[in-house]
Amino acid sequence: MFGSNPRYKKDFIAFPNLVVHSTFRTVQGEGPYAGSAATFIRLSHCNLACSFCDTEFEQGAVMSPQKLLEQVKIHHSYAKLVVITGGEPLLQDMSAFCEQFFTLYPDHIIQIETAGTVWQENMRKFIVSGQVVLVCSPKTPTVKAEIKAFCKHWKYIIQKDGIDHSDGLPNIPTQPGLTKRVPLARPPEGDDIVVWLQPMDEYDADKNAANIRECAELAMLWNYKVSLQIHKLLGVE
Ligand code: SF4
Repeated sequence: MFGSNPRYKKDFIAFPNLVVHSTFRTVQGEGPYAGSAATFIRLSHCNLACSFCDTEFEQGAVMSPQKLLEQVKIHHSYAKLVVITGGEPLLQDMSAFCEQFFTLYPDHIIQIETAGTVWQENMRKFIVSGQVVLVCSPKTPTVKAEIKAFCKHWKYIIQKDGIDHSDGLPNIPTQPGLTKRVPLARPPEGDDIVVWLQPMDEYDADKNAANIRECAELAMLWNYKVSLQIHKLLGVE
C-alpha cells in the first residue's frame, strides 16, 4: 500500500484456486451500489502500486472455489450483492467461483472493482449476461479494450490539483517515481456510461476538504456523479 507493494502478474495462482485476503459483510461505500449491504471478497495482490493506495491486500490464503463459497455463505445475509475487489481482482481467474456462486444464488449480482489493466476472458459470459457488473477506476493512461467495451461505471479518484480541466477528469501520475502528468484512461462515449468522482483520502483534513469541494464543482460542471466513501463514515470495513 501507498506504493510500497510488490507487483504481481496475471494468473500468479493456478486456476481454479484463488488467493483471498479477506471476506466480510459490510455496506458498499463507493460507486453504483453505494449504501447497499454487501458481502465483500478482497482478493490479494495488485499489478500496480499507486502512491495514494490505502488498501491492505498483501496477505492472503489460497482457497479453492468451494472453500471461498463457504466463506461467502458465512457472511451472507439478505443482501444480494457480492463485491469482489482487491488489489486487482482480475489478476486471478474467478470464473470457477462465479460458476458455483451463481448456481447457488442465481438472482445475485457480483460487482468487480478493477483498475482495468487486466482482462480474464473466462469472465466474459458472466459480464455479458449482466450477472457480473464491472466498475473501472483507471490508474493508468490506457485500459484493456474489453474493459472499455463492457464497463459502464467509471470511477475516478479526485485530487484537487490533479485535474485536466478540458474534461474534468484526472491527469495525475499514480505510480511511484513518475512525475509527468498524463490523463488517466477516459471512459467511452455513450448514454449508458456513468462517471463517478470520488475525493482522494489524503489523511489530511484540509486536503480532504479541498478534494471534496473539487468533486462537487466538477460534478456540477460536467454532470458527473459523486461517490463518497460512506463505509468510512459508517465506521465499517
Ligand atoms: S490499482 Fe487499486 S489496489 Fe492496486 S495499488 Fe492502485 S489503488 Fe491500490
